[in-house]
Amino acid sequence: MNIDALPRFALAQLPTPLEELKNLSRQLGGLTFLIKRDDQTGLALGGNKTRKLEFLVGEALLQGADTLVSLGAGQSNHCRQTAAAAAKAGLKCELILNGKIPDLPNGNLLLNDILGARLHWIERSQRAIKLAELDAELRACGRKPYLIPVGGSNGVGATGYVLAMQELTAQLNAIGHRVDHLVFATSSGGTQAGILLGARIAGFTGRLHGISIDKNDPEHFEYEAEVAQIANDCATYIGSSIRLTRDHVTVTYGFKGEGYGIVGELERDAIRLLARTEGILLDPVYAGRAFGGLMDLIRRGVFQRGETVLFWHTGGAPALFAYAKDLI
Ligand SMILES: *Cc1c(COP(=O)(O)O)cnc(C)c1O
Repeated sequence: MNIDALPRFALAQLPTPLEELKNLSRQLGGLTFLIKRDDQTGLALGGNKTRKLEFLVGEALLQGADTLVSLGAGQSNHCRQTAAAAAKAGLKCELILNGKIPDLPNGNLLLNDILGARLHWIERSQRAIKLAELDAELRACGRKPYLIPVGGSNGVGATGYVLAMQELTAQLNAIGHRVDHLVFATSSGGTQAGILLGARIAGFTGRLHGISIDKNDPEHFEYEAEVAQIANDCATYIGSSIRLTRDHVTVTYGFKGEGYGIVGELERDAIRLLARTEGILLDPVYAGRAFGGLMDLIRRGVFQRGETVLFWHTGGAPALFAYAKDLI
């Protein structure tokens, strides 16, 4: 295994901070809370996609691409970070977004525009067709597009989170802290796949709790298999012999609420709690929902007294502004 030899384009400010949530630990009592600040990866307001994009852009440049093409929801953090990565790497960026352009482009959408990406709005059901069309169109004009899947979640992108686990374990060793539970939002699977594989490689023994923010069990049981597949593709890419199955993947369901990107009581409470105890901003779609899920795991007695729980903040706060009317 030799990650250092893989193509990589520097985008993130690493390591991201590892902090103790002292006020929250005191307020809730009985548990120690840590937070890993991947909302502070440093690229155009940060987030977890920056780590994946370092390897995706690395490969794009190696292949001689001149354009990054990706897709996602209107408020996609991934698309905003892709637009920023393209700008920094001197590439063009084309984004396929679900739905219709809103009257007031706010949050990530505003940033996509400022960052110079070209946007294509499409019904979600049509996006695979649009992606193929756009790819063909760009090639016909002599451009060299590099396609990044939803969320940057493939074996190449997940490499960023294998390294992130090595980074985390080094930080924990330096402060002499052990983590019993690691909690994070999971959606397109690349983050979880990298964390899972990285945990094996780095010898991290804490329990992993991926909080699904857009699926409810058993509706999407194939999600575990998808995560395992991304982890195995990543293992192949980085030259590791580790292989995982769906049984290695733990996803906690039940937090989908009214649906993806629809803010409810769970997210509102979670966002306010962390903001008012620690001055840290979560986002309405991913980290806010996952942190609400973490609060629920506490209520359900999943953690034992005296244990340490690490919440991995995956970013997304720029979307807060687009959700103003749901949050106040
Ligand atoms: C994309 C995203 C996630 C989910 O990561 P996946 O790798 O898609 O599972 C979590 N939090 C935020 C803020 C995100 O933008």
